[in-house]
Amino acid sequence: MKVLKFGGTSVGSPARMKALLDIINPAERQVVVLSAVSGTTNSLVEIGQAYLAGDKKKAAQLITILKDKYEIFIKELLAKPEFLSQGQEVIDYHFSLLSNLANDHFTNIEDKIVVAQGELLSTTLYHVYLKEIGVPSVLLPALDFMKIDEDNEPIVDYITENLQPLLDQHPEVDLFITQGYICRNAYGEIDNLRRGGSDYTASLIGAGIRSEEVQIWTDIDGMHNNDPRIVKGTQPIAQLSFDEAAELAYFGAKILHPQSVFPAQRYKIPVRLLNTMDPKAQGTLITNTSEKDKIKSIAAKDAITAIKIQSSRMLLAHGFLRKVFEVFERYKTSIDMITTSEVGVSVTIDDTTYLGDITKELNTYGSVEIDVNQTIICVVGDFGAEKHGYAARVLEAVKHIPLRMISYGGSDHNLSLLVKTEDKVETLRSLHNRLF
Ligand code: ASP
Ligand code: MG
Repeated sequence: MKVLKFGGTSVGSPARMKALLDIINPAERQVVVLSAVSGTTNSLVEIGQAYLAGDKKKAAQLITILKDKYEIFIKELLAKPEFLSQGQEVIDYHFSLLSNLANDHFTNIEDKIVVAQGELLSTTLYHVYLKEIGVPSVLLPALDFMKIDEDNEPIVDYITENLQPLLDQHPEVDLFITQGYICRNAYGEIDNLRRGGSDYTASLIGAGIRSEEVQIWTDIDGMHNNDPRIVKGTQPIAQLSFDEAAELAYFGAKILHPQSVFPAQRYKIPVRLLNTMDPKAQGTLITNTSEKDKIKSIAAKDAITAIKIQSSRMLLAHGFLRKVFEVFERYKTSIDMITTSEVGVSVTIDDTTYLGDITKELNTYGSVEIDVNQTIICVVGDFGAEKHGYAARVLEAVKHIPLRMISYGGSDHNLSLLVKTEDKVETLRSLHNRLF
């Protein structure tokens, strides 16, 4: 059984929603995971923010604007009066739920309920559409089987135990539809897998039911070897290992939610990245194997802050790094890149919520320097310790660009550079021209 996930733009208009059946073969047993219609989650986030700020008037205005869009949407999606009125009921239900939250004490719990409505709307409306055109399908509520624990970690066994019986209940049906992104948390409340989390849903379902393959359908023909918005002539990468895909997804390739790689990797489920606009294109296949001896791709991650801690006490001392790392751990701030010398250590973070506190504590261990507006450039490929020449090629390509940090050898397939964000475009282009 396959799992197919369609992102926001793939369900972004009634026409696109209808065109899903060009890709989905309704006679093949599969689970289809849908995102919210594009733009919807952003609007819901704004509605939640207005409520959290106590601005009920603004929330009401935003709700009306979004509802109007859906009124138009169903008129194009559905034709027969019977199904049009079912679509209308769906809209009325979800939007009055949003409006009625004005009467509640609004906390982060309600906020999560707000942002969950996007996937609930897209899947329910698609289900009504399938009924109208006579394609048998079952709508599976993700809130019944997708669960995260106290540390916000999804529980794959819970999915297996709760989703498999739901599938088994319908041996006569082939097409199952469910929501991406949304889940329940350890307290049974509605929660989510963070922005872009529908990919993660698909991979978790794939792992939970030991699917033969997970397909992530977006609007680009796979993961490219550089950022196509910045560099001309980028190419899709035919094959990646899970490790390479994880590095690229984390360090900037927007096409895949970074965490979604891990469940598939753990249960060895192949993941295919495919293009709804060009279904015949081969896309990117992510499996356990990878093409050897090759630089595969370059990705960039912005809004990085570098922190340098220097202390002569570090010289020949042990335990210095532990003390430094413990500061970050106390503030639940994860470190992306790290370089050390005998008298100092530099790390990068992307979450600066606790930067002030972190700096204050680090100051007790040495002098601290902060650089903001940095970008990590990540070169991914197969460069194990016995290989030579890769670092030289990379550094040769960027010899005219000031480098704040260089990290190589952390894994067999990553070389990362930290540059000023203002140098990012030139770095990406220059690497592209020299490496590919
Ligand atoms: N709708 C959610 C978002 O926009 C989840 C997703 O699309 O993957 O972040
Ligand atoms: Mg996405």
